[in-house]
Amino acid sequence: MTKSPEMSDSVIGVKAQIAAIRATHPENLMARHFDGDYFDTLNRAKRDRLLRIVRSGLENPDSRMGAYAQFDADYKDFEPLLEPMIREYHDIPRQREIAQGHDWSLMATRCHLEDIDPNLMGVSARVRVGRNLENFPLPGAMTKAQRLELEGLMIEVFETLQGRAPFDGQYLSLSPGSPRAIGEAEYQRRVRAHQMFKDMRGDPYLTAAGIASDWPFGRGMYASRAEDFLIWVGEEDHLRIVAMHKGGDLAALLAKLHDGLERLDGLVPAYAHSRRYGYLASCPTNLGTAMRTSLHLPLSRLTGGGKDLTPAKKIASEMSLAVRGAGGEHSNAGPGGLIDVSPRARLGITESGIMRQLYEGARRLWTAEDAA
Ligand code: ADP
Ligand code: MG
Repeated sequence: MTKSPEMSDSVIGVKAQIAAIRATHPENLMARHFDGDYFDTLNRAKRDRLLRIVRSGLENPDSRMGAYAQFDADYKDFEPLLEPMIREYHDIPRQREIAQGHDWSLMATRCHLEDIDPNLMGVSARVRVGRNLENFPLPGAMTKAQRLELEGLMIEVFETLQGRAPFDGQYLSLSPGSPRAIGEAEYQRRVRAHQMFKDMRGDPYLTAAGIASDWPFGRGMYASRAEDFLIWVGEEDHLRIVAMHKGGDLAALLAKLHDGLERLDGLVPAYAHSRRYGYLASCPTNLGTAMRTSLHLPLSRLTGGGKDLTPAKKIASEMSLAVRGAGGEHSNAGPGGLIDVSPRARLGITESGIMRQLYEGARRLWTAEDAA
């Protein structure tokens, strides 16, 4: 990790800065839980590390979490700050032990949105998990060489997926000069199709965390031939493994992701995982299952045609769901009030539990849309 001297010098003002954010942005969990007395107990090296972790939330007061881990060890080394933030985000009260179990059994049952309303048959559904490899720093602290090394290692994995259904596909690199590099037009087409991730330099949260550094080196995506199974390399986590399709069979969607993960088992080096926090992720919102599953729901009435998301957000939050725009985090609603709805918690809940929560949330939102 590179230590910047300016950062150490800025320690003096940091407590005042965070107190100011706490007053203006009470939803910034880092600012809310930052304890100046705890900070004072840290030696200089640990203060520098902590400042790297909270930098995104300092530079972007409107952050929800306001912190990105830079190394797996951060979750242990800075537990006094991170744990209360994690508990609040994932709704885990202080008296409940944090422990992560995994359960994918829902994929063996029926979970069809069409059972709620046949009109939901064509909705776009997506599920992803984040995975990080033990032997690299998290993306915020990686060097350019490490980003390229990770991409190279994954290209070898992808070669073993090629030629065998259903994961047969191709790797599309964004690394300049790569023999697998794709052109700008192909990249933009894949972004518009919601397959490929956006230029990370446009995201001030990821940029401040160091996660967008060295863009676009070491970045790319493996896409199955059917374009329903994707593996992102070098975004917010080392890997984001995605299944997506149009249609309301959520159990089938979960099964597709699970099959893909099983296929990768033994090919990819060990993932960072802890008993308490499950799969370790850059953002504490993604600990545990590291799974976010979402539906693109057209809620034109509950979003005032996409202009006022307040009613949709209110019901979603009662169901512990988060609302994003149709282009992903920090985007606006799409035509017809198309929004991205997903269960908020990923830790202390299983994969099956998250999927069931999405299903029940969709039922509630759709019923309210009908009645509005
Ligand atoms: P995540 O952080 O879970 O990967 P983002 O909010 O960063 O998700 O969005 C990533 C991409 O996935 C964006 O293009 C977004 O529009 C797309 N996306 C999310 N949910 C869906 C969905 N249900 N159907 C189609 N695309 C989706
Ligand atoms: Mg994202």
